[in-house]
Amino acid sequence: MMKKVQLGSSDVYVHPIGLGTNAVGGHNLYPNLNEETGKELIRTAIESGIQLIDTALMYGPYRSEELIGEVVKDMGCRENVAIATKIGPKYVDQKMTMDNSPEFLRDEVDKALQRLQTDYIDLMYLHYPDEHTPKDEAVGVLKELKDAGKIRAIGVSNFSPEQLKEANKDGYVDVLQGQYNLLEREAEQIYFPYTREHNISFIPYFPLASGLLTGKYKRDDQFDDLRASMPHFQGEAFAKNLEKVEQIRQIAVAKNAEVAHIVLAWYLAQDGIDVIIPGAKRADQVKSNLQTLDVHLTPGEIQVINRLFS
Ligand code: NAP
Repeated sequence: MMKKVQLGSSDVYVHPIGLGTNAVGGHNLYPNLNEETGKELIRTAIESGIQLIDTALMYGPYRSEELIGEVVKDMGCRENVAIATKIGPKYVDQKMTMDNSPEFLRDEVDKALQRLQTDYIDLMYLHYPDEHTPKDEAVGVLKELKDAGKIRAIGVSNFSPEQLKEANKDGYVDVLQGQYNLLEREAEQIYFPYTREHNISFIPYFPLASGLLTGKYKRDDQFDDLRASMPHFQGEAFAKNLEKVEQIRQIAVAKNAEVAHIVLAWYLAQDGIDVIIPGAKRADQVKSNLQTLDVHLTPGEIQVINRLFS
């Protein structure tokens, strides 16, 4: 049985390994996604004890939330899962802008509830800051919705350190979701001191650097999705990253584990990270990533990985 962790100061408790679902119905991010495969991986996650399911209006758009809503309803397991989603994007004529104004947010929460076929959302994030709304005012709207029972915990994502401080003026922020992985460690300096001090759970996105940190890619691999434009996947940088990942393989082999498990276990060993949401394209990846819980890294191994990627 996995131990449970609390999201910020909220009453939401989840197992430390959640699931990222931008590849479930995220047709705008990954071409040729099969929706049945996506639904199957959600079912597998829930059956395997995963509790935190991370989605967003922007994945699809809308489709990821709809598919998760369908599966959770079919399985009749709403009380066993915590659904996290994100609002803020506004689509007009297929063009997206960010809007965190109070009227818009209130309306968007209701629409997300409908897509997810539920009457509460466990963790609601502002996906990105907008240009005009004071951050504490936007979070204040989420607090009002929390008091009304429509959401249970409040998150922000992609906020700069200054924006986070403004958003958390009244102490209402439970979770910050930001980019963090072994190749992108800036969060340790710019966010962790603040989030630790203010009891905000930091949930990293791209924990596997979109698959790069699983050790399965080779120098000649080509990508036709969002990875085609990611700096870590380009030329010399890609080659160097693959070399570092190979060194993790030595630790993995000695522990009879996979590279991804070592990487994910390393995050959970960091002070400031309680929950991770690795993404998956197939059910077997979901099952595999759960094996992270069987990996125990020694302080020496944690240091070796730290230095390798510092
Ligand atoms: P990720 O977790 O770094 O990588 C996930 C990808 O790695 C999978 O789609 C799969 O891709 C591969 N993979 C996963 N497990 C594997 C395994 N055991 N063996 C081999 N390959 C494996 O990237 P992500 O899914 O983009 O990010 C995680 C979650 O964070 C997302 O799903 C989303 O919920 C959230 N997110 C949030 C934001 C934000 O702005 N807040 C931004 C990005 C993501 P392949 O099979 O194609 O290699």
